[in-house]
Amino acid sequence: MQKKELRAYIRELKRQYSHEQLKQMSSAITNRAIDFIHNYDKKDGCKTILLYHSLPDEVYTHSLISSLSDKGYTVLLPTVIDNENMELHIYINDEEYHVGAMNIQEANGDAFDCYEKIDLAIIPGMAFTKDGHRLGRGKGYYDRILQKIKCPLIGLAFPFQIVDNIPCEEHDVKMNYIIS
Ligand code: ADP
Ligand code: MG
Repeated sequence: MQKKELRAYIRELKRQYSHEQLKQMSSAITNRAIDFIHNYDKKDGCKTILLYHSLPDEVYTHSLISSLSDKGYTVLLPTVIDNENMELHIYINDEEYHVGAMNIQEANGDAFDCYEKIDLAIIPGMAFTKDGHRLGRGKGYYDRILQKIKCPLIGLAFPFQIVDNIPCEEHDVKMNYIIS
C-alpha cells in the first residue's frame, strides 16, 4: 500500500472504536511508557522528554504529560509555526495552553531549542512497523524536527496501528522503540 492508502486504511480501523474506547485502550500503553521512562531514567538518566498532546484519535497522552511533569521531568510539546515547522515549548500545567494548528493544545511555556538536551522523545503516528518505520499524517512535521533530535525515539501506537510494511522515503525518520 502507498502512504495515502495506508493512512485511509488506518483511519477506517480507528472508526471502529469510540473516542472513549480509544482512551481506555490508551492507559495500558501509557503505563508501559511510564515503566520504560523509569527504567531508562535509572539506567541512563533522563530529565527532558518530548511528548505530544493527543488528538481524540491518538494514544491518549494528557495524563502521561501531567504525571511526568508532576514527577519533575521537563516535558516539551510541539507548536506548529508557519504551517510548516514545529518548535518546542515547555509544558507548565493543564491550564497554560492555547489551541494551535489542527486543534492541538500547545504549551504556553518558554520555547526550548537545546535539542541536544532532550533525553527521550515520544512520537505519535498513523502507523508503525515493529522495526520502527513510521507513517505520519502526511505533512512531514516530525521528519523535519527529528533531524535535529538525536535521542531515542519512541512511537506510541494502538495494536491495530502496527503494520507489516510502510513505504519509506529518504526523509522518513525511524523510531528506536514502539510501545503498544
Ligand atoms: P509523514 O511523515 O507526515 O507521514 P511524509 O513522510 O509523506 O509525511 O512527508 C510529507 C512531506 O514532508 C514530504 O513531501 C516531504 O518532502 C516533506 N519532508 C519530510 N521531511 C523533510 C525534510 N527533512 N526536509 C524537507 N521536507 C521534508
Ligand atoms: Mg514521513
